Amino acid sequence: MRYGIISDIHANLSALEESLRLAAERGVDEYLCLGDIVGYGASPNECCDLVRGLRATVICGNHDVAAIHPGREIWFTPAARACILWTREVLTKENREFLHSLRPQEQVGEAVLCHGSLADPDLYTTTPEEALLSLRLLEGPLAFFGHTHFAEWFRLGPGLSLPEEFLQPDGGLCTLEPGYQYLVNPGAVGQPRDGNRQGSFAVWDTEAGTVEIIRFDYDFAEAQRRMYAAGLPENMALRLGLGI
Ligand code: ZN
Repeated sequence: MRYGIISDIHANLSALEESLRLAAERGVDEYLCLGDIVGYGASPNECCDLVRGLRATVICGNHDVAAIHPGREIWFTPAARACILWTREVLTKENREFLHSLRPQEQVGEAVLCHGSLADPDLYTTTPEEALLSLRLLEGPLAFFGHTHFAEWFRLGPGLSLPEEFLQPDGGLCTLEPGYQYLVNPGAVGQPRDGNRQGSFAVWDTEAGTVEIIRFDYDFAEAQRRMYAAGLPENMALRLGLGI
């Protein structure tokens, strides 16, 4: 089985379409989505419609929750708050219901899906110490997470007290070795922050025992134009060109 793993789409339709085209080219059978379909970008309904059409296993991210729960935006920066208030206004009833139906964690085969951390969906996993928080709660060999918009994986080997960290700003292949536990972040489809403006997603091949992180070019200028046309904050559009 080949799973396409997409996370942090953030209403960026150009990036989502390109990631799905490339995933289909690579023979993906099913999709897993790690949350934050909406927020920041100008195409929340189009992105929700596309993800719903995939019949994927989808969990909610903090932006998806904030988009349907007034008050949750108080934790956001002013620019992120402006985006989520706009998103709340434009979301269709069907897509609000879709976001309401999502749970914060799902199990798919040997893997657990979470947004930020297995300990709390809103926690950021950026260091080996933070990764250990998730790994202590992980019974199986593999979990996928998003939220940081950094493509990377952590690996905890037998006898090690801290996991090793492998950043993947240019993509890479993770071979899942027996006896190890892995936490894999496929990176952000629609708002990368690891210094590479290319979008990012992953393909988990259960027969080969690998997870490949794939970086891809997309028309970020089109995503920026849509954001300007929607009146969304300029800095949120500019960052798409910088990968920050
Ligand atoms: Zn996000």
